[in-house]
Amino acid sequence: MGPSRRNHSASFLGLEAYSISPYVALAHRPVDSNRQTPGNVSLSSRGPSLPRFPSFIVLMSSKETSPERTSDELWFDDGNVILAAEDKQFKVHRGMLSAHSPFFKDMFSLPQSPDPDKDQGTTVQGCPVVEVQDSAVELQCVLKALYYGISSAYDPNQLISIATATAFLRLGKKYEIRTLFDEACVRLKECYPSKLPSSPLGRMQRHHLAGRDPLDFQLLNIAREVGITTLLPVARYVCSQSASIEQIIDGYTWEGTVYKLDATNQRACIIGRDKRSALANAAFEGLLSPKQERFMSYNPRWSCKSKQCILWYCVTTHPSDPFATWDTEWDSRFCGECAAALKREYEQCRKKAWSLLPSFFCLGTWENVTNGETSF
Ligand SMILES: [Zn+2]
Repeated sequence: MGPSRRNHSASFLGLEAYSISPYVALAHRPVDSNRQTPGNVSLSSRGPSLPRFPSFIVLMSSKETSPERTSDELWFDDGNVILAAEDKQFKVHRGMLSAHSPFFKDMFSLPQSPDPDKDQGTTVQGCPVVEVQDSAVELQCVLKALYYGISSAYDPNQLISIATATAFLRLGKKYEIRTLFDEACVRLKECYPSKLPSSPLGRMQRHHLAGRDPLDFQLLNIAREVGITTLLPVARYVCSQSASIEQIIDGYTWEGTVYKLDATNQRACIIGRDKRSALANAAFEGLLSPKQERFMSYNPRWSCKSKQCILWYCVTTHPSDPFATWDTEWDSRFCGECAAALKREYEQCRKKAWSLLPSFFCLGTWENVTNGETSF
């Protein structure tokens, strides 16, 4: 969009009224610099009848609206604005949108026409049309939650689908609807830890999301898109260990749907995939190395000279999984003092692996990851 387009005035709700320049600034505010397509909202228009408007502003006439293009569920007779997404329209209320969304509040606070009767043909049932570049399904999902409550999105088990969570996150961030964003964000974060757990890393079972594909490609993509960065280190680690290189590159089909990682996640998983043993080596270096002299010199605090301890130490190799937990079977291999010392060292190694984890998946440090988390 060139600067020459910024000073047009546009007809919206009465028309000439809304100055396009602040409108455009709002409408084209990007959601995420990493997104390929910034979220757009524009005054809707179809047809070449008003050439003074920029090409992305077209005024929609009432005759263009047919009943099948409207959403019965979200078409309120007393509504005062029409949101148009793809082939669907929703007649809703500016007050309701403003109450939940600072974005819409700002938009609707722009000055209105002093002559609302002018250009009536540009409205639908007397309401201004705001065309948004969103998925109609996702917009409907969000509007339903705003009108009928978030709980209307729950299934009987209090689950919401990953598709609904995606709509809440994507549009919640774009339109600054914090309640919906937070609702979905909490559920996503329950799927992968951002603190070192006492168990091996994996996909966590305690979650409230339905419809997750087995490799969580959907989850990785939306988390990266909206900036829920703190779950990415573990999610990428688990994905890179669970998925084949073909699945990471080409995607895979599950229940008739093809899932593909976005380019950024794909690159990170490919890079990190081959580094599991390097991460384990870096973390467990010096511990459980099969060299007697290392054992003897490794930790002078150990006064133990038990041949059994030394023997087991020499034949026990460090795990290939950098987040493997201490194997309780090993307790019987060592005397109590050695076992306790090794367990402590083992945990220190896991912590070291944890601190290195984000850097192995193109995410820098945990501090970078935390600071990069999206905020309103
Ligand atoms: Zn010992």
